[in-house]
Amino acid sequence: MEAVTNGRYRFDIAPSLLSKKILCPAYTPAPFKSEDRLLYLGLHALATLKVIAHKVRLRHWLKSVERRGNGFRYDLEFEAPSGKNQLYEVKSAKNLKEVHKIQAALYWTEEHDEVVLSNGEEEIPLTTEYIQSVRRRAEETCKLLRENPELAAATFKPNSEICYICSNLKCPFQSNRGG
Ligand code: SF4
Repeated sequence: MEAVTNGRYRFDIAPSLLSKKILCPAYTPAPFKSEDRLLYLGLHALATLKVIAHKVRLRHWLKSVERRGNGFRYDLEFEAPSGKNQLYEVKSAKNLKEVHKIQAALYWTEEHDEVVLSNGEEEIPLTTEYIQSVRRRAEETCKLLRENPELAAATFKPNSEICYICSNLKCPFQSNRGG
């Protein structure tokens, strides 16, 4: 993967939230109930084990689990038989979505040759161009949130991947929420 000029940039918001703010700056996370959190952690652990088992079968070397880097923690790191250093972002969701891809791209650091999103069933490798474009959008979003928080809070961009987990009660699109 070619060097990305902003590779050392450390975003001031965690990728899990920033990925949603990139799609809609007014997104406000709904509180997580403790039972939902436990279920999420269990499903995520299962998906992580599935990814590890699959990669080890393919003779990839597991280098780290939940390593801290770029200011945040990313799920898995493998060294492929080719010698490439791979960062894996694991999701327990049945269907991998754009918001997951954006989050995975935000974890990239200069030491990673590849970034892959996986749920243990499906794998999506991210291209350098995609990672660069996400990081540009992240910088623009962080700038808006930092320099004009009022405008950010009123910039509503409805998106079916995140509206249903948003708790911004001032948003006129709250009626778009699904299940
Ligand atoms: S409900 Fe409104 S504020 Fe929340 S993500 Fe959707 S458009 Fe954005």
